[in-house]
Order: sequence, then structure tokens, then C-alpha cells
Amino acid sequence: MGTVHLIDHPLVQHKLTLMRRKDASTNSFRQLCHEVSALMAYEVLRDIPMHEIDVETPLEHTVGKVIDGKKLVFASILRAGAGILDGMLTVVPGARVGHIGLYRDPKTLVAVEYYYKMPGELHERDVVVVDPMLATGHSAVAAVERLKETRPKSIKFVCLLTCPEGLAAMDDAHPDVPIYTAAVDRQLDEHGYILPGLGDAGDRIFGTK
Ligand code: URA
Repeated sequence: MGTVHLIDHPLVQHKLTLMRRKDASTNSFRQLCHEVSALMAYEVLRDIPMHEIDVETPLEHTVGKVIDGKKLVFASILRAGAGILDGMLTVVPGARVGHIGLYRDPKTLVAVEYYYKMPGELHERDVVVVDPMLATGHSAVAAVERLKETRPKSIKFVCLLTCPEGLAAMDDAHPDVPIYTAAVDRQLDEHGYILPGLGDAGDRIFGTK
């Protein structure tokens, strides 16, 4: 089994519970998504490379550590990934951003690619793929497969929620890609929705239903 990091920080769990409520407004859902993602970023990026730079404090010279935000890419799976992307960018504003457009064929639930745009020289960059829901795993598996063609330095996958079926699909296809999630829910329903879940993340972020 690939590595699954369950981010069980009380603040993350609290906000996720508020997001699950069906009466959460679009505004509140989007804001919570933003906040949860920013909090999750701390754990997801715990091991990103740092280097030392010289610093003049008001008192003396010292050496401090910094990350190279430009070497980091958030790859957002359209469209719901945008909800997580915004939160992550608040903590690493210099990160580069890629987009992968995939839609779920409603009959087969298979992911079909319609858009792909990534920063150049991915072999020098660490990529964090973001999508709020790892459900059937079809989109996640296809997105990571596509990214691997460009040989990035590393790939991680971040979602708010997943389920055993989604984890199994990723483990079959990409056991080398660590998954970061705030919860592993019970199961998928017959339409590919996570139960108990939080409904359609894209619709709830953008207010399209
Ligand atoms: N996508 C969603 O937005 N919600 C689910 O429960 C599953 C996939």
C-alpha cells in the first residue's frame, strides 16, 4: 500500500465537519475549503527542500533557511481543484500552477482529458496534485499518469476526502505517490459519490447547483 497521510489536526477536522453540512452556504463552503487547504499545506509541504541564505537582521548578520517556492508546482484538477489551489497559494504564493482538465464520463465514470497545461522543466520541480475528492480514483490516476510522462522530481496527491475505493485505485496504479487527506470515508455510492462525503465539491465551491 502506498503512503496515506491522514491529516487529523483538530482545526482541519473541525472545518471539514462544517463543510459536510448540507446547509453550508456557497460562500462559507468556499471559505472553509480555502482554510482547510491552507492548513493541510503545512503537513503536505513538511519535507520540501530548503536552502540557506545570508540575512542582515537589524542587529547582525545571520544565515536563515528558505524554500524555493518557484520549484513547487500545484497541479489542479479542473474544476474542483481550484478550491484547494487557492488555499495552498496563500501559504506558498510563489508556487507555479498547472491545470489538468478531466471530466467523468457519466456512464462509465472514466476520466477523459480535455485540457493540460503545466510549467516547463518539470524534472526540476516537485508537483502537488490537488483535487478535493479522491472518489473512484479515475481522474487522479489519469492525472498522475499524464504528469509522470514529464518526469517531475516528485509527485504528491492532496484531497480533502477519500474512500477505500479511491485509495485502492491509486495504490494499484501509483503506489509510489503519497496521498494526503483529511478523511477516509466509508464508501462510494452507485453514482461515484463518497458517503457520507460532502456532496459535489465543484458545485458547492462554485455555487452551480
Ligand atoms: N466528486 C465529488 O465532488 N464528490 C464526490 O462525492 C465524489 C466525486
